Amino acid sequence: MKHTYRYDHLTWKEIRDAVGRQPQPVIAIPIGAVEDHGPHMALSTDNDILEGVLAECGRRAQGDLLILPTIPFGLDEHHMDFPGTITVDIQTTLAYLTQVAVSVARHGFTHILIVNGHGSNQSICDLAARDCVIKTGMICAATTVNAAVDPSLVRDVLDAERRGGPGSVGHACEYETAMMLHLHPERVDMPLARRDVGQLKLKYFNWDHPEPSAYAWQDWWSRFSSEGIAGDAAAATPEFGKRMFDVTVERFVELAREFRTIPIRPRRDHH
Ligand SMILES: [Zn+2]
Repeated sequence: MKHTYRYDHLTWKEIRDAVGRQPQPVIAIPIGAVEDHGPHMALSTDNDILEGVLAECGRRAQGDLLILPTIPFGLDEHHMDFPGTITVDIQTTLAYLTQVAVSVARHGFTHILIVNGHGSNQSICDLAARDCVIKTGMICAATTVNAAVDPSLVRDVLDAERRGGPGSVGHACEYETAMMLHLHPERVDMPLARRDVGQLKLKYFNWDHPEPSAYAWQDWWSRFSSEGIAGDAAAATPEFGKRMFDVTVERFVELAREFRTIPIRPRRDHH
């Protein structure tokens, strides 16, 4: 089946037409991970959430969004103590992602969003977006549609409607499990879902989303998580997943349409 919101389902002539449209579609570059998600969920969880949300965004955006195939692997060295995880190092991930974004820009697309589905890719995505701007002059930014990575898009709903309390949302958590119960319930084994809140909560550092940390730090996961969970997977429900899915899709389409209004102004050399 041909999906007209999929960048790679179009022909080169259709891509050329899309570049010529005013306003142009926003191009989304998803990057996820294959890693442990507790004893109850598939290694594909980050990619599944990313692709599920973006496919619906693409359908609803009616030509305003074109979505690349997901880059399935990212920086995951800190999860390698859990069987099955695939990791690509920082330099390779950054170079690969940047070259994908720059390729899109070289065809004349002016507004590009790197959409991250895995926490540890975030700084790499920020840098790839920066590098794309530096190299091409186009508008390229990094964001996420996974609230366990960064809840900025949906923070109000997440905080109001999660049931697990402090520490419940981190990884393979109440949020990610609920999203999977909505999108792919066959890949979730709920009787094995656990509450596993081993994340540190200090004065200046904590993992719970309402309270920010004063510094960035990532430990080896096997040092603090026995099950590969950080949060309360047992609190997840498909209803919460559907609610988070719907609000994420609605707001991401709005975000993309706002994003493409950012003008490309000429630079001026003041030497
Ligand atoms: Zn995840």
